[in-house]
Amino acid sequence: MRILLVEDNPGDARLIELLLQEAFEAGRISSPRVSRVGSVAEGLAKLEAEDYDIALIDLSLPDAHGRETYERIQQGAPDLPVVAMTGNDDERMAEDLVAAGAQDYLIKGQVDARVLGRALRYAIERKRSEEKLRLVAQVFEVALEGILVTDADQAIVSINRAFTDLTGFREGEVAGQPMFGEEDLGIFRKVWATQSGAEHWQGEAICRRAQGDSFPVWLNINAVKNAVGRVTHYVAAFSDITALKRTEERLRHIAHHDTLTGLPNRMLLEDRMEHALAQARRKHDFVAVMFIDLDRFKVVNDTLGHAAGDELLRMAAHRLRGCVREVDTVARLGGDEFAVVLGDLAAREDAALVARKILHVMGRPFALQDQEVFVTASVGIAMYGEDSNYESDVMERADIAMYHAKRTGRNNFHFYSPHMNVLSQQRLTLETDLRRALEREEFVLHYQPQVDPGGGGIIGVEALIRWAHKERGLVPPVEFIPLLEDTGLIVPVGEWVMRTAARQAVAWQKEGLPPLRMAVNLSARQLKEENLPERVAEILAETGLSPDLLEIELTESIVMENAEEAVAALGRLKALGVRIALDDFGTGASSLAYLKNFPIDTLKLSADIIVEVEQEFDAAIAGAVITMARNMKLSSVAEGVETAAQFDFLRREQCDSIQGFLISRPMAPEALRELFEGLGHKVG
Ligand code: C2E
Ligand code: MG
Ligand code: MG
Repeated sequence: MRILLVEDNPGDARLIELLLQEAFEAGRISSPRVSRVGSVAEGLAKLEAEDYDIALIDLSLPDAHGRETYERIQQGAPDLPVVAMTGNDDERMAEDLVAAGAQDYLIKGQVDARVLGRALRYAIERKRSEEKLRLVAQVFEVALEGILVTDADQAIVSINRAFTDLTGFREGEVAGQPMFGEEDLGIFRKVWATQSGAEHWQGEAICRRAQGDSFPVWLNINAVKNAVGRVTHYVAAFSDITALKRTEERLRHIAHHDTLTGLPNRMLLEDRMEHALAQARRKHDFVAVMFIDLDRFKVVNDTLGHAAGDELLRMAAHRLRGCVREVDTVARLGGDEFAVVLGDLAAREDAALVARKILHVMGRPFALQDQEVFVTASVGIAMYGEDSNYESDVMERADIAMYHAKRTGRNNFHFYSPHMNVLSQQRLTLETDLRRALEREEFVLHYQPQVDPGGGGIIGVEALIRWAHKERGLVPPVEFIPLLEDTGLIVPVGEWVMRTAARQAVAWQKEGLPPLRMAVNLSARQLKEENLPERVAEILAETGLSPDLLEIELTESIVMENAEEAVAALGRLKALGVRIALDDFGTGASSLAYLKNFPIDTLKLSADIIVEVEQEFDAAIAGAVITMARNMKLSSVAEGVETAAQFDFLRREQCDSIQGFLISRPMAPEALRELFEGLGHKVG
């Protein structure tokens, strides 16, 4: 133990040294190494030069007296424990010094080795714990977290600076107040488990501010116990988590909403649905789920651009929202698909009412880029509690019903019905099979001859596609063409048809048959393909088929519905030198006057008006059409001719060409070739 002894009286100093030695020998202190000086000035010089564990100072020295003595030593070595020595009559002053920071005092003449040893040891220890306390107090004060200390009854005892910064409360305002309370009573609004004896708690709480508002905090509370394990205090530290909460909320919003429209997304929809369904189960009422698909969205997106498409979706979302109650959910599922969940319905009809409203508002024009754009909607509805009791089922069924609404002309709504399910299952398998059919070369063409009723033999053939399905056999086009069109597969398949037919026509010529006109059917989707004329030109060049031998058949409805586009596309096709035929004429709302607008070469009278030519009225119509075609310099073909009577009638009316089972069914190319020779006799 290194001791600085400041004592001007040599006798007193000697006595202390002896007592120290004695204390050491009795094992009360470690070996004393004493530096003795006789004044404060000398003491300070020593302190500067060396480290000491403790200072023993006499209070009356030649260069200082009393409190001043202590203070000067203390300033020289603030971390050094100090024990003062004083005479009998100075005891009051010694106590003063202890209050000012000295660790202990001794009264001269009353000191023995035991008392001295104990005083030194305690002084050192006391200084150490004082240091620690000072450190803790500083940490408490500078902490960024708000900290409060309460007594065992959770009444506030003290707070730190951060507490004041965060809450606006000063210590005087909160001292004695409860830490917790309902509403405004306490600082924190949260019932805490300490009441049931817990020693530690952490979690979110609401903290009240002096101005009256409140904010969320993360609160950490620890009980402080005394030696016998009784809680004497609680220390609560908290940090402001307002920003964190805001971010959290934002993230939650993003995860649950569609960014474009701000509507709930599929995830939130499923949540809401679960909720609505649970309620329906309890109250025994219905929930309707609607799937809504915009009918012409893709067209708008493609022609006006994505920005306009986005705007349209936002407007559509807004209109949808306007069709339902506050409590109902409107969600965007992606693309142009929306879903609506209607809760606590009394009947199906309630859902139908909303569906009608939706069709109505969606049918109104949308103002986009100074244009009025029209898109309609197709709506599928499934009722929970009626159609299904499983959530995933309801969604799927609404989807199926929506698909049927689309298939049956769009701009309408359909309730789910069980037979739809079967149909859509079939469709799904069919679609998968169809996608593979082209590469697996499962499509085949059959050819049906068209003959001159006047005896001129075969003029041409029509190529008709079939699907040689591994299980179902030869599938007729009506069963898969619509699906090819829906999926867009009709484009590559249609091209395959044209190429194969052209090749066949050339092959027959090479075999020595007369040049035959090859008629090929084209779907609406193909006509919309920008590069159709180029593709056709390519096929002609590639196969070597003379353009005037290729006749492209388009139905009346295709041409009429897309009048402007059709005129342009047909013009470009005509420029290649190919022929254009109007198929199935007489089935739709045929406008004869309108025909003049289209660059067509051939009119194909639909089987419907041929079948009954034996009846006077239909005969008159068919006759008139043939005459008109002749006047317009169009060639005429009668389709679906099955009887000799029909044939005779058509010959009398001078129809240019006849096609039908009476002459021949559509046949495979080999079979057809064999037929060629004999036909001349049969017809002639
Ligand atoms: P379509 O172009 O009007 O073809 C005539 C249809 O009438 C053919 O049916 C043919 O087999 C049938 N038919 C011919 N003669 C008679 C008859 O005397 N009586 C009756 N009842 N029917 C007769 P198919 O082959 O089933 O084709 C149906 C439709 O499928 C075609 O009508 C056409 O619109 C479409 N189609 C066929 N092949 C293709 C193709 O390659 N591409 C496109 N886009 N459509 C095609
Ligand atoms: Mg046809
Ligand atoms: Mg036809």
